[in-house]
Amino acid sequence: MGHAPGGPVFEVEATEGAARAGVLHTARGEIRTPVFMPVGTKGTVKSLHPDEVRELGAQIVLGNTYHLHFRPGDALIRDLGGLHRFMSWDAPILTDSGGFQVFSLRDTIVRVDDEGVTFRSVYDGASTRFTPELAAEIQTNLGSDIAMCLDQVPAAGVSRRELGEAVRRTTAWAERQRDAPRADGQLRFGITQGGVDVELRRRSTEEIAALDFDGNAIGGLAIGEDRAAMFETTDWATALLPAHKPRYFMGIGDPEGILEVIEAGVDMFDCVLPTRTARTGSALTRDGRINLRNARFARDQAPLDETCDCAACARFTRAYIRHLVNQNELLGLRLLSLHNLRFLIELTRGARDAIERGEFASYKRDRLERLQWADS
Ligand SMILES: [Zn+2]
Repeated sequence: MGHAPGGPVFEVEATEGAARAGVLHTARGEIRTPVFMPVGTKGTVKSLHPDEVRELGAQIVLGNTYHLHFRPGDALIRDLGGLHRFMSWDAPILTDSGGFQVFSLRDTIVRVDDEGVTFRSVYDGASTRFTPELAAEIQTNLGSDIAMCLDQVPAAGVSRRELGEAVRRTTAWAERQRDAPRADGQLRFGITQGGVDVELRRRSTEEIAALDFDGNAIGGLAIGEDRAAMFETTDWATALLPAHKPRYFMGIGDPEGILEVIEAGVDMFDCVLPTRTARTGSALTRDGRINLRNARFARDQAPLDETCDCAACARFTRAYIRHLVNQNELLGLRLLSLHNLRFLIELTRGARDAIERGEFASYKRDRLERLQWADS
């Protein structure tokens, strides 16, 4: 087990409705939840020094099984002491299974069967086969603190028959991965599928929960389906997951989405949104998203967000960052990445504090009201 011997993996400290504030115990320390997890796809949160990521308040980062398997190779990372040492990050790391990448790069898939999925690598086209056993082995080599099961992620809007196949296969793969070797102290999470189909999502949730993983993830949502249906599904599907284990919603990171899934009882979430948004020259603010390329910021001497305490907002104006963005200066990307990550980490920390005080409902309402005033 991946925590202090004998102790629980997860403890709920306060609740308000379904929302909860908790502590997740990992081999590399405690994580206070709800938690936003920055994505470090290739062993780096794009453009940021690990000390900066830590100073932003990040408690855990994600690594990507698919990409690290191909470049530089998980065996190489193992030989160099594991992913923490390789990227000089000594706090917890969660690695996904590669399932999401394989299935989102749909054109590269050659065949899916009960044994695994065969696809062509995006790096050199080499034919590769991912199985639950290999997903476990790669994540053991990386030495992450939380490893995810290989799942089959169908596209939004596929036929019910295909969705049902993905649910069946995801459970069968989870059963195999559950019994595979893992790194010392590594926790392992199952993933549910089923889209927004009530019966299939329920079946998947019950089957994965019965396998008794250290935590459970809600997968296959936030992939382009109707947002209202996604939130409705999240509400009831989260309630079906064991309350004494951490719940992870995969791939949500917009402010509204974060507040909605926290309200549903989700403890962990990740998204590339803060760094991807930075690359488009945009900043997240209390009043909504702004694109610094817009001419109206040319003489704007305000910080990105008046209430933010990040390194970008402490010293730099919107006008200056707009200039950097327009000239493709690296500092512009870095400042926007710092700010956007800090914004989401603070939003989430504020939600945790509000749950502890029993004021989450008003916190959520106040934050959403301001967001809706946005005209970007
Ligand atoms: Zn800021």
